[in-house]
Amino acid sequence: MQIIHDFLTINEYSRPGRKLKEVLGVVLHWTANPSANAKENRDYFENKKTGVGGYASAHYIIDQNGLIVAAVPEYEVAYHTGSSQRDPASNKFYTDEARRRFGKYASENNSPNNCTIGVELCPIDSAGNFSDATIRAAVELCADILTRYNLPVTAITTHHNVVGWKDCPKLWTEKPALFDAFCYSVAEKKQRG
Ligand SMILES: [Zn+2]
Repeated sequence: MQIIHDFLTINEYSRPGRKLKEVLGVVLHWTANPSANAKENRDYFENKKTGVGGYASAHYIIDQNGLIVAAVPEYEVAYHTGSSQRDPASNKFYTDEARRRFGKYASENNSPNNCTIGVELCPIDSAGNFSDATIRAAVELCADILTRYNLPVTAITTHHNVVGWKDCPKLWTEKPALFDAFCYSVAEKKQRG
């Protein structure tokens, strides 16, 4: 597992510099752009500091070649899983699953951003497929995070499972069995150390 630390400049739109309240989970995403690598996605978040592109960021971005770029320190808030729209199934802000996982953080006036680590995976195509190298690095990173925060594998979830209306990562929203397989790989990795 190779991690490049390339933290964003502290700014209102992508790295507010606030501390996470606690770590209750890891939220996985796709970048939705197969033509951009991890460094380019990191620079996209950096450019949000000008204020013209809204709020967005993540703690880690995993390249198509498996390289991991750390864009926001783990102990700070990143803007990856907040929502100002209601989940269609529960008609509330965030899903029932999010409320079960994150309690008070999954509400209109709070955000699961305050208690989660966000990991973006760079896809190899617009269908959302990931390379073996990306998946291998994501498995290692997730196992490492879970071990360090003493969290179970069930603490891994997806952006879709938290906000409901987002198909992110697209492939795992359409094929949840692939996400289950990913979690199984993380469990194996965590056990082996
Ligand atoms: Zn997402």
